[in-house]
Amino acid sequence: MSTVAAPKLHKNFINGQWVAPSGGHTYENRNPANTAELVGTFVSSSAADVDAAVDAATEAYKTWRLVPAPKRAEILYRAAEMLLHRKEELSRDMTREMGKVLAETRGDVQEAIDMTYYMAGEGRRLFGQTTPSELPNKFAMSVRQSIGVCGMITPWNFPMAIPSWKMMPALVSGNTVVLKPAEDTPLSSYHLVEVLTAAGLPPGVVNIVSGDGPGAGAPLSTHKKVPVISFTGSTAVGRIIAQAAAPDFKHVSLEMGGKNIIIVMDDANLELAVDGAIWGGFGTTGQRCTAASRVAVHKSVYAEFIRRFVERVKALKVGDGLDPQIEMGPCINEQQLNTVMSYVEIGKQEGAKLLTGGNRLDGGAHGKGWFHAPTVFGDCSAKMRIAQEEIFGPVVSVIPFSTFDEALEIANGVPYGLSASIYTKNVNQAFAAMRDLYTGIVYVNAPTIGAETHLPFGGTKQTGNGHREAAISAIDFFTEWKTLYIDYSDTLQRAQIDNAD
Ligand code: ADP
Repeated sequence: MSTVAAPKLHKNFINGQWVAPSGGHTYENRNPANTAELVGTFVSSSAADVDAAVDAATEAYKTWRLVPAPKRAEILYRAAEMLLHRKEELSRDMTREMGKVLAETRGDVQEAIDMTYYMAGEGRRLFGQTTPSELPNKFAMSVRQSIGVCGMITPWNFPMAIPSWKMMPALVSGNTVVLKPAEDTPLSSYHLVEVLTAAGLPPGVVNIVSGDGPGAGAPLSTHKKVPVISFTGSTAVGRIIAQAAAPDFKHVSLEMGGKNIIIVMDDANLELAVDGAIWGGFGTTGQRCTAASRVAVHKSVYAEFIRRFVERVKALKVGDGLDPQIEMGPCINEQQLNTVMSYVEIGKQEGAKLLTGGNRLDGGAHGKGWFHAPTVFGDCSAKMRIAQEEIFGPVVSVIPFSTFDEALEIANGVPYGLSASIYTKNVNQAFAAMRDLYTGIVYVNAPTIGAETHLPFGGTKQTGNGHREAAISAIDFFTEWKTLYIDYSDTLQRAQIDNAD
């Protein structure tokens, strides 16, 4: 069996050194499946620590931006190889700090590997454009430029994948980074930074400051020397960050909430749809921004869908994600568990039908962690709060509908727009849904989760602010266009004037 990290004090990583916090404050990172287990102790950083990290990144930027992109990419290739080599150990540590089952943490690490290889490949592309000038003896082209220090603020549900989505495109493009990982899952981000450093990243190019949102995230997101902020987390915090960044016109990318839906049409392969609803609803304990927290089912197959779905949900094995028998882990922390329990009460009060679950699991080994039973509400109306608000836990609201148009209206009738899915064999309906579902991601005959690193990721409405992560769209965010005109005519040529008839 692979080794895992022993609990220790993980200091901040600034300018290639592990440094103690200026204020001396630390906090404990505990296993949500067994809170008696200490995963590690981390620094509660303050504005002074953030300043030191930003200074290091500002200094390192002067040279890193000039390193040829294919050379920057070589470091990323090496890092990807090292991540692959350490995949099992890193996955086990991630399950210990985050709680999701080992199969899923392996997927999380794999996503970081995929992103690192993909962005390393960009080192030999980073394509700009050449185009003819409208004037003779004149050359025109556009090139991508790095921007500077990028502040990154990440959530706990994908502790290595999400930091890699942000760091790899930023780095290959020639930027430097200060990362503030989620307070619940810093260890996986530390592992990623360690690997990049061992792969040869120069001091100061990537820095990490741990701590909470107001203490460490806020000073980073408002720092005058940080022109780029990439954030993934709640819509409430995203709004704070966007407002705080506006006076300085920072480039801000926000990935926020979701209230994703699976639509099950009357002609759907019902067994496949149930498989999708189980994986989409309860994978990562429902704590994915793309989780299928709503399932809308055509009335003609509603009873049968509910029967099969609830039977499967009741059989889900909940526990410590390191146990290979376990299918669903705990909530990330007590606060999240309380949120889930309060939404269960809201659902009951709203008149939704509790079909299974609805309670905390705290008997036996479950008593050591933040476990909640997988929960299904049936007969929901689309406007109930449990069908409108992001719960971020193992709660699925099932909504009956009669027509395709009604299903689309239900799907689009929420404040978010991340991911949507439709199960149907009718190609006309599938294409109409692909066109009319107003979300950043649409799946046909697959659940709402399952992003691949070379396709754009992000959402509409209150899910995002128009940017997309991953794929070439991430390079678009972490670079700026510079347009170059080279006139070799030896005369003054005036565009739109000298060449007009
Ligand atoms: P969640 O915990 O639901 O994923 P949050 O939006 O609370 O979502 O947290 C996402 C990230 O934002 C975390 O790293 C958190 O520390 C950080 N954060 C929270 N509040 C602030 C803030 N006011 N300014 C900057 N970052 C913040």
